[in-house]
Amino acid sequence: MKPRTVILGAGFAGLQACKALRGALTDLVVIDPSPVATMLPALPDLAGGWVPERLTRHSLADLLPPRATHIQQSATSIDLDRRLVTAGGETYAYDQLLIAAGSVPNFYQSPFPRDRMHPLATLDDARRIRRDFEAYLQETAHPQVLVAGTGYTGLELAMSLFFRAKAAGKSCGVTIVDPTPILLPSLPDKQRQFVLDFLTAQGAAVRLGVAVESFDGQTAVAGGQTYGNVFFCWAAGSQFAVPEIKGTVERLRDGRLKVAPDLSLPMYPDVFAAGDAAAILHRGQPLRKAVNFAYYGGRRAGRNLARRLRGKPTRPFHPLDLGWVVPFRETSVGRLPFGLWVHGRLGVRLHHLMCGVRNYSFENFAGCLKLAMKGNHV
Ligand SMILES: Cc1cc2nc3c(=O)[nH]c(=O)nc-3n(C[C@H](O)[C@H](O)[C@H](O)COP(=O)(O)OP(=O)(O)OC[C@H]3O[C@@H](n4cnc5c(N)ncnc54)[C@H](O)[C@@H]3O)c2cc1C
Repeated sequence: MKPRTVILGAGFAGLQACKALRGALTDLVVIDPSPVATMLPALPDLAGGWVPERLTRHSLADLLPPRATHIQQSATSIDLDRRLVTAGGETYAYDQLLIAAGSVPNFYQSPFPRDRMHPLATLDDARRIRRDFEAYLQETAHPQVLVAGTGYTGLELAMSLFFRAKAAGKSCGVTIVDPTPILLPSLPDKQRQFVLDFLTAQGAAVRLGVAVESFDGQTAVAGGQTYGNVFFCWAAGSQFAVPEIKGTVERLRDGRLKVAPDLSLPMYPDVFAAGDAAAILHRGQPLRKAVNFAYYGGRRAGRNLARRLRGKPTRPFHPLDLGWVVPFRETSVGRLPFGLWVHGRLGVRLHHLMCGVRNYSFENFAGCLKLAMKGNHV
């Protein structure tokens, strides 16, 4: 009987691993609740109605190797000592495992009504924001968006909705709150000031050191200020996607698994983690959650799984930082290789280009390339 390799998650990391395992002598089982792969960086654009949905997804049936079995369920538990994964009430035994299930929003056990909060982590979340915000704009004379979380997702989403309201002829109040005292702490002062100046020039209030104290589904209170009939978005943090993991593992506070240089778990040489699920230490710091690290990390993990099947030694993952761009529709901030900074429409175009290059089909690539060439005039 062939050994069984189970892959949890068919996102950027999981799909690259599947590709690397195409010719390997193994039964490939992929567990992922979604029928599609999603271009997550385009979700703030989709939520604001700026990109067509078809450019943000592609069917997994087309992308997985033909001999892979897709179990369309969420993994709820991993037992590393017994080599078992539970998903949809069934248990799956494995000989090798790749954990690449990405991350899910962290609600920090908040008591706020979930069905009135708008996180942005999946295609369904983006669809829901788009639909609900359209309805909200139609029925509200003075729209107000409140975003919890000043990370990149929160800021991008805030501006995407702000400009959507503007395009609908409505002036929309935007407040972004975060309990941490500093905006985008990894940026140098000059770049941080650039982002702050742009947000305040649009009339957005950035309230640092402030948390949402209450939200009853309509009215929120943050830092002593009341926001009535508010459109509330939650971008306050993310965490490991599988609820339970049994075994001897070291983890970061957000649940990411500390991995060895070859991306295996130190106590379990047949178990690998990649993408948002893995804490990959680079120059003493965990790598940020990003598409390129997931893409190349997934490929390295897949190749190492294949090498182990052939009885060969694994190889270390050498991450290459290709930079990043945060688009705000009208402008952007980004850092390119060699320490070059990018701002303005050029960064917005690079963002669309990146969404094309890392997309899942030629049609999607071509659609994103068109957006990159047009700028934002969709
Ligand atoms: C809104 C948003 C914007 C972003 N923008 C950028 C950006 O501009 N640039 C950038 O570099 N990065 C960006 N990121 C981060 C980037 O998308 C992630 O770092 C990257 O997708 C991680 O890849 P992954 O393969 O680990 O996870 P994912 O691509 O998230 O794939 C995980 C897969 O696992 C599946 N899954 C989830 N839970 C389970 C479970 N319990 N069991 C089995 N399967 C499961 C999911 O359905 C999904 O298919 C953004 C993320 C978000 C949410």
